[in-house]
Amino acid sequence: MTAQAIEVFAPAKINLTLHVTGQRADGYHLLDSLVMFADVGDRVTVARASEMSLRVTGPMAAGVPDDARNLCWKAAEAFGEPVAITLDKHLPAAAGIGGGSSDAAAVLRGMEQLFGRPSGVHLPDLGADVPVCMLAHAARMQGIGEQVTPLDLQPLDVILVNPRVEVSTPAVFKALDRRDNPPMTPMPEGPRSRDVLTWLAEQRNDLEAPASDLRPEIGQVLRELSFLDGVRLVRMSGSGATCFAVFESRGLHEVMAQEMRRNFPQWWVEYATLS
Ligand code: ATP
Repeated sequence: MTAQAIEVFAPAKINLTLHVTGQRADGYHLLDSLVMFADVGDRVTVARASEMSLRVTGPMAAGVPDDARNLCWKAAEAFGEPVAITLDKHLPAAAGIGGGSSDAAAVLRGMEQLFGRPSGVHLPDLGADVPVCMLAHAARMQGIGEQVTPLDLQPLDVILVNPRVEVSTPAVFKALDRRDNPPMTPMPEGPRSRDVLTWLAEQRNDLEAPASDLRPEIGQVLRELSFLDGVRLVRMSGSGATCFAVFESRGLHEVMAQEMRRNFPQWWVEYATLS
């Protein structure tokens, strides 16, 4: 008896830090990034089929490709079995929260279960964020994304805000001033969240300045987040445009998300817990 269909959650990936530390001769950027995963995300369903198919549904489906351009499709092809995929899209696309990469990792996890074997896929070939998205748990990501070290961190309450402008990752890297920036400083020992937040505030997202130059809306989001009560850290994730605010007191994020939604109904606003 084989399983009919497997449903897998594809969490939003948040880069709490993103240091660009170099560039290889083949053009790939070297990164040093602290990544956590949210309890908001997409849902992927995979089922055995005689040929590949993809259906994209959900509130964020508009404009997402439903053919071989979709990373879900590429992941299934790399696995080497035809499947019928349903992608229930809740995360904005081209938003710096790894939508496509997390979806691709969810397809591979689902197919591993469905076919009872490891994917065998060389994960970085599908994208720098795919290896960490396979883990879907707090981690440090280095190299070109292929070095993933799991971390034991306290959960963090955040709000995520996207001004509904898409940002092209290659355009942001192209606009970056320097590619040889310093890596993260050593992380505090132990999972005490206050120490981690102090340390996080001293780190950077090197893509924040070039992305804000390309899309001034990002600067506006960062400013508005910094005005919120009880906020400890405000930063952009990935290559933008989604930004996040971390609160020191647990539970405050829900109220603050409601305030942001009231004041900026045109923006995508979610509250989430990162782990
Ligand atoms: P990252 O945080 O890794 O930079 P991102 O959030 O910037 O990722 P994606 O959401 O993966 O970027 O979307 C980038 C582009 O990839 C989109 O413009 C879209 O056309 C295409 N794409 C391919 N597969 C997907 C998918 N499953 N979901 C959304 N977009 C996808």
